[in-house]
Amino acid sequence: MSDRQLAVEFRGVSKLYGALAVLKELSLSVPQGEKIALIGPSGSGKTTVLRILMTLETIQAGTVWVKGEPLWHMPKGDGLAPATETHLHAMRRHIGMVFQHFNLFPHMTVQENVARPPQIVLGVTSGEAEQRAQDLLRLVGLAQKGASYPAQLSGGQKQRVAIARALAMQPAIMLFDEPTSALDPELVEEVLAVLRDIALEGKTTMLLVTHEMSFAREISDRILFLDGGAIVEEGPPDQIFSDPKEERTRLFLKKII
Ligand code: ADP
Repeated sequence: MSDRQLAVEFRGVSKLYGALAVLKELSLSVPQGEKIALIGPSGSGKTTVLRILMTLETIQAGTVWVKGEPLWHMPKGDGLAPATETHLHAMRRHIGMVFQHFNLFPHMTVQENVARPPQIVLGVTSGEAEQRAQDLLRLVGLAQKGASYPAQLSGGQKQRVAIARALAMQPAIMLFDEPTSALDPELVEEVLAVLRDIALEGKTTMLLVTHEMSFAREISDRILFLDGGAIVEEGPPDQIFSDPKEERTRLFLKKII
């Protein structure tokens, strides 16, 4: 069994694309409420970690646990059996993901983008969902934009709607995959400000893939440096950025900062 205090646990997880090993027996424990930043060179497997948690990718070896329950498997007798669709569906509800590109529903207003999913997926009443959507749009600084359509918004505004929409599902765990990398530089800070608020609020477990090193340093409890599908080094931000132990971490940081 897994530890119920952990939001996420990977044990010996390997992911292959054909002959290419993208994750190599990766193990990782994230306590509830912890904010983690995944950093590392392009192709090191960071996004794959998030996609596995979203059940967008299968794994070839190991186990993944979410809130103390196996994600891809279900307990059966003394062992584990493959998960059913129902189990996967229930597990996905623990997790919200914000992608690099915003993936909003183009035919829905901003308010509908945030209010509809909880009604459809969670069965929340429309009154409650509309109220919650308004609160969340206020949180991301878009209280005035509820009646707009995504095409009428800037990239930064779209990303803030995407964050509000993910939060509307009240997930215990939020995954952010380079949420600012598709934005014009002048729009990055408004999205980081929203992420900062969510991090400060404290309850939500966050896994953030980012190239914004100073931001990762500011909001994370722990940094994971991945290279070649493995965690090369992990530690508190100050240690990783000021005193990295591994040569590969040092070289990466020297290049990027
Ligand atoms: P990162 O997020 O660190 O840039 P990814 O997790 O996106 O890395 O990718 C890790 C590796 O897996 C890369 O070499 C990438 O080319 C490869 N990869 C990702 N998705 C696929 C796919 N659908 N088919 C084949 N290879 C893939």
